[in-house]
Amino acid sequence: MQSQNNNNSNNNKLYVVGIGPGSVQDMTIRAQKALETSEYILGNSTYLDQIAPLLDGKKVIRSYMGDEVKRAQKALELAENSIVSIISGGDANIYGMAGLVLEVAEKKEQTNIEIIPGVTAITASAACLGAPITADFAVISLSDLLTPWEIIKERLYAAARADFVIALYNPKSRKRTGHLKEAIQIISQEKKPQTPVGIAQNITREGEHTIVTTLGEFMKFYEDVDMRTTILIGNRESRIWNNADRVITPRGYHKKYDY
Ligand code: SAH
Repeated sequence: MQSQNNNNSNNNKLYVVGIGPGSVQDMTIRAQKALETSEYILGNSTYLDQIAPLLDGKKVIRSYMGDEVKRAQKALELAENSIVSIISGGDANIYGMAGLVLEVAEKKEQTNIEIIPGVTAITASAACLGAPITADFAVISLSDLLTPWEIIKERLYAAARADFVIALYNPKSRKRTGHLKEAIQIISQEKKPQTPVGIAQNITREGEHTIVTTLGEFMKFYEDVDMRTTILIGNRESRIWNNADRVITPRGYHKKYDY
């Protein structure tokens, strides 16, 4: 098997770093080490601000949403002669930079790339909400910038029909406000109104906030949802735990054991 990093030189490397959901505490040690060894760090402004304490002495290249292709190209170009990190929030595979960097690198046959995993929004949000995703789950982004809305709707329906716990990423932006309502309607065709729903906002960041409700009551909280929110919708067995601030999806132990 060929190694992922078959360029053995120590001074030209591109790390694609998942920096976690917000707080530096929730970043992996491997991610921190990659940033420490990098001469250049590229990322969008929001994510660079998130790791501000780690940027001292670094050559920082800031960019904005929408210029991801240029950012990936620039990072690969710099990584021909230097150690570079390109950062993604959460995990770099999950609606992050990992795929794009590898696509661009494929054309250039550049191989000095290492992808470093991070804590993604669904696991960070799930932890704050208790244990809502202990069974099979589906992650669906409501952003139709790169995926047609028709396909997203099909996936929503299929995931609801198969009784997956569903996580909605990118639920609503300032311009795109209506998709979430339609998504909830589609999911409600297959899931009962009493299905627990967790709304997790700014997890591990300033303004961290969670709401626990049900599918039937969800629209009451519609205005609270924004692009910094992840929504978790339970399966048939999910329930609201004790004092209503957590959701639990039993893994199934209760069917086998007494406790
Ligand atoms: N690569 C990222 C996801 C990028 S898509 C990851 O792995 O987490 C951006 C979406 O992720 C947001 O719209 C929101 O739905 C979710 N998200 C990211 N960080 C979050 C946080 N700290 N709290 C709640 N949701 C978050």
